[in-house]
Amino acid sequence: MTDAPAPLENPLTRYRRVEPPVQHQPEPGVQSEMTPVPDLGEDSYRGSGRLTGRKALITGGDSGIGGAVAIAFAREGADVAIVHLPDEQSDADHVLEHVRAAGRTGVSIATDISDAAACRALVAEAVDALGGLDIVVNNAGKQVAVPRLEDLSDEQFEQTFRTNVFATFWITKAAVAHLPAGSSIINTASLEAYKPAPDRLDYAATKAAINNLSKGLALQLAERGIRVNVVAPGPTWTALQVSGGVSDEQMEHFDDESTYQRAGQPAEIAPAYVFLASADASYVSGETLNVNGGMVTP
Ligand code: NAD
Ligand code: MG
Repeated sequence: MTDAPAPLENPLTRYRRVEPPVQHQPEPGVQSEMTPVPDLGEDSYRGSGRLTGRKALITGGDSGIGGAVAIAFAREGADVAIVHLPDEQSDADHVLEHVRAAGRTGVSIATDISDAAACRALVAEAVDALGGLDIVVNNAGKQVAVPRLEDLSDEQFEQTFRTNVFATFWITKAAVAHLPAGSSIINTASLEAYKPAPDRLDYAATKAAINNLSKGLALQLAERGIRVNVVAPGPTWTALQVSGGVSDEQMEHFDDESTYQRAGQPAEIAPAYVFLASADASYVSGETLNVNGGMVTP
């Protein structure tokens, strides 16, 4: 029996333009209160056993890209531990509901990753809850737009680096002792690693650092059989945008940033993580997979 052909989908129109009304939330933002609510693939992602039995830790797994990754991983057969801030428990519960509906173990850990001890503790908690670890997705991120250098506080600059870069280091360092050969580490950069927005100096610099750190680490961990890769998303409709990540004007024109003239949805970014986590990517390490609506990167 052959399957009926799936309709060919035009990437330009697979998702509608978001055309978001200007909206504001305090950091880190609650996704369920956004207009429109981002698509995590709840109704669309179909697994095919590509991660059966895997054990994944995903930071920022309550919402946006990390939430879509958690749902996709579970539908591919992985148990997942998601990390988020305490204010995001309701978003985390939504993701866990889908993880458990896929028949997998799902646990959430509410903690602040900008602290080294918290990073070490969350890794221990995830290892304990899942009975080991073989996939680490460093995806949590802080992005707050500040137009003028003089207004970018030392505190923000440091906190952005602590959240985006230091936590990636702390979590990976604590996790590596638990990772057997065949494990996969996936970090999250951005189009801004190459094309910094002038009002996101701190953020863009962290994303370039993540690319570089990941490539060096890929070389270092190669002899242990651990692959390290990066996903670099382009403009994607998530809570980051409505919690200070972009200006009002940028929010109004959010769709116009990509070549496709529409924002991406988290559900469109998650399959890149599935590929890099799976044995399909056994010969891929030190790579950055750009998923950005047709923008050209170096
Ligand atoms: P999101 O707001 O849905 O996810 C970010 C998550 O980071 C939050 O849910 C929160 O749980 C977590 N986080 C932030 N600070 C934290 C802290 N101190 N402690 C613990 N958790 C913390 O937004 P998203 O867009 O899905 O972001 C996911 C990743 O994608 C980020 O690294 C972001 O930089 C990257 N990215 C996003 C875009 C985009 O356009 N949305 C583009 C390129 C890269
Ligand atoms: Mg969130």
